[in-house]
Amino acid sequence: MLHLTLRCASTGLRDLYPGGVIDLHTHSTASDGTDSPARLVEVAARAGITTLAITDHDTTSGWTGAAEAAGRHQVGLVRGAEISALARTTGWGTGVHLLAYLHDPTHPALLAETERTRADRESRARRMVDLLGEDYPITWEDLLAQTKPGTTIGRPHIADALAAAGVVRDREEAFATMLRVGTRYYVGHYAPDAVAAVRAVRAAGGVPVLAHPGADGRGRIVPDSTIEELAAAGLAGLEVEHRDHTPDTRRRLRDIAESLGLLVTGSSDFHGAGKHNLIGENTTEPEVLEAIAEQGALEVLR
Ligand code: AMP
Ligand code: FE
Ligand code: FE
Ligand code: ZN
Repeated sequence: MLHLTLRCASTGLRDLYPGGVIDLHTHSTASDGTDSPARLVEVAARAGITTLAITDHDTTSGWTGAAEAAGRHQVGLVRGAEISALARTTGWGTGVHLLAYLHDPTHPALLAETERTRADRESRARRMVDLLGEDYPITWEDLLAQTKPGTTIGRPHIADALAAAGVVRDREEAFATMLRVGTRYYVGHYAPDAVAAVRAVRAAGGVPVLAHPGADGRGRIVPDSTIEELAAAGLAGLEVEHRDHTPDTRRRLRDIAESLGLLVTGSSDFHGAGKHNLIGENTTEPEVLEAIAEQGALEVLR
């Protein structure tokens, strides 16, 4: 139903939601999305999105291109990022993604962490390509051909290189097979402690929101006690409305957010052609956007 709405009537969405259509989690070619930052904004405008957040993994390098296009297409822009982090849980810890909104992109502590993550993501990808290269026709150059200068490198780019070589059909098949956690090709990467990441985002004037905290299809999720710990450290909200959450999970996360006084957001996690997620398929209430805008160091570009 929603898909039809998106496809048939871009301005219709704006009429249905007079407070605005707000999507606070999307990716560009600055990380593992397939649209350039400017094209991402254009796609959002065409879909009837009124305010978009660009949240590339561990980088803000897409902000300039997105901001320029946002002015041209009259789309509100929340400048953000999705910070890779590691929550201290039992065992090896649990990887989490922390959305950061409206932070100072030059803040030294946060920048040092994201740069360290990005550097180790590259080393890790080199190791994975080396291992894959023992069994499949894939080289580092093949991977680089799937990226732009400055792209935060991730497994999706390895998947794209494998697809270009004809080894898999698409990213989904690669993630279901050789790129899965636990295969002999999988290598992890550095990420800062999640509590420290929440503090660093706040120190940089940003608004930290835990991305897809109940997405158990992609790996381990954190227990409620971790969410409580992050809330005590300054977490502002939980991304509740997300395609990787079942209705039950959404209800449970809403209850947790309410009991901890956290904001509730909803977003598409759009990756262009890299994932099935459609832009605007989940959205955030206008009052929540205003609360985020009030807490952030930067303006929402309107
Ligand atoms: P990495 O951060 O390099 O470990 O790769 C994880 C990224 O891969 C996430 O940000 C997802 O957007 C993407 N991803 C995970 N599973 C899939 C999938 N089945 N198809 C496409 N992209 C995926
Ligand atoms: Fe991604
Ligand atoms: Fe994520
Ligand atoms: Zn994401």
